[in-house]
Order: sequence, then structure tokens, then C-alpha cells
Amino acid sequence: MLRRPIVIANWKMNKLPSEVKRYIAEISPKLAVYPHVDAVLAGQDVLLNAMVTAAKGTAVEIGAENMYWQDKGAYTGETSPAALADLGISRVIIGHSERRNYFRETDEMVNLKTLAALRNGLSPIIAIDEAVQLESLNDHAHWIVNQVVESLKGVTHEEMGRLMLAYEPTAAIGSGQAMGPDAAQKSLRVIRQTVADMFDQDVADHVRVLYGGSVKPANAYELLKQPDIDGVLVGDAALDAATFIELISLAE
Ligand code: PEP
Repeated sequence: MLRRPIVIANWKMNKLPSEVKRYIAEISPKLAVYPHVDAVLAGQDVLLNAMVTAAKGTAVEIGAENMYWQDKGAYTGETSPAALADLGISRVIIGHSERRNYFRETDEMVNLKTLAALRNGLSPIIAIDEAVQLESLNDHAHWIVNQVVESLKGVTHEEMGRLMLAYEPTAAIGSGQAMGPDAAQKSLRVIRQTVADMFDQDVADHVRVLYGGSVKPANAYELLKQPDIDGVLVGDAALDAATFIELISLAE
């Protein structure tokens, strides 16, 4: 298999430290039934220590939801990529549409964060959004191309093996209405083609590209069947441990 399927839960700002242990204890024994799927939980910073501790010795990988692009210094309140790596975090979401829309993150900031994550041994999950209504998605291939090109500036061929791209149309996030599988496939194909144009076909064939936006068990299988959709990034539905496992089973 060229690309391993992956399911990433983005808990956003929805869980408490006291809830972490139980969730991970519920999913970790069940993951053994699905050895072909990577399972990642991304949590807010205050949960990460508890998440890493609870996931020790299990197949669960822990990711952060955001980070800063400087390794250390006088940046009160920011999170250092070096500190994330030191804590045992393996992945980090960069440029989520909520970061872009509520906190004014630009493509340039996404690029700086991507390079900082790679420099610190973290694997970035770079979110590519498309801030238009669902009906007019796919008319905006140039938006997607532009974000991919800007995010990946300065990334080497070797480093491409450590990152993922996640296409998350803003209109589908948290709306309950996912993009249709054909339309999602079309956007993900644009992303993979852009990677091929920037690097080469081999890099494009190996990079994992995910879809995110109102994924749930009812629509995950059709999305995951698409040739360019290697996994899903899931918010609301993944807050429930049993539903997360159901999504893993659909990706297997
Ligand atoms: C997300 O925020 O990454 C996301 C995909 O959310 P939801 O699944 O709730 O749409």
C-alpha cells in the first residue's frame, strides 16, 4: 500500500484534562483490530501532557492543534515546537480554518509554522481551506493551488515524506453537511497534482492528503473510497470515542 489510511480527531477546545484517560483507554484496545489505519488525537495544549501519558504503549499518536514558529523566546502565551517535540508529540495541525478565520493566520504564517515543525522533528498536518459556499467549491482550484504552494515553500523532497495535507472547506466544517465525495475527490486531486508540479510524481504519490468537514460514520466510507482521499480529519464526530473507532473501522 502506497499510503496508509489515517483518521485524525481534532478535539478543538472541547475536552477537559479529566476526560482524556477514559477516552484513550476506550479506544486503544480496539485499535489492535484495525492494524492498517493510523489513529491520531489532536488536543489543546493543556491536555497534551495527559494525552501523551495515557497514550504511552498504545497505537494512539498524539498531535497538537497549533504552535508558534519560533523555538523559544519572549512570546508570552505561545507554544514552542521544541517543547511539543520534547513532550513526545509527533504531529501538529497547522493553518486550520479556525486559526485562519478567527486568528488571522496567513499563508506566510502557515509556511513559517510548517518549516518550524519540520525543523523540530514534528510531522505537520497542513490544513488547506476554501472559504466559499459548498455549491461553488471546485470553482476555486486556484485558491487551493495557491495555499499549497505558499504553505510548502522551502520544504525539501525528504521533508515531504513527513507531512500531510488536509483539505477542509470552511463551509463544511461544523455545519453537519460534508462535501460530496466526488467534489471532495476533485479538490484533493488538485492538491496532489500541485504537489507533483512542485516536487515530482513520486512525492505526490506518497504524500497523504485528507478530507475534513462534517465527516461522520454515515459519510466516511464513500469519502474514503475516493482514490485521492487517504484519510479524514474529524471534529465533532470524533468527540465520542465509540464513533472515533467506527471511523477507524471504515478506513481499514
Ligand atoms: C475540523 O474542525 O477539523 C473539522 C473537520 O470539524 P467537523 O468534523 O466538526 O466539521
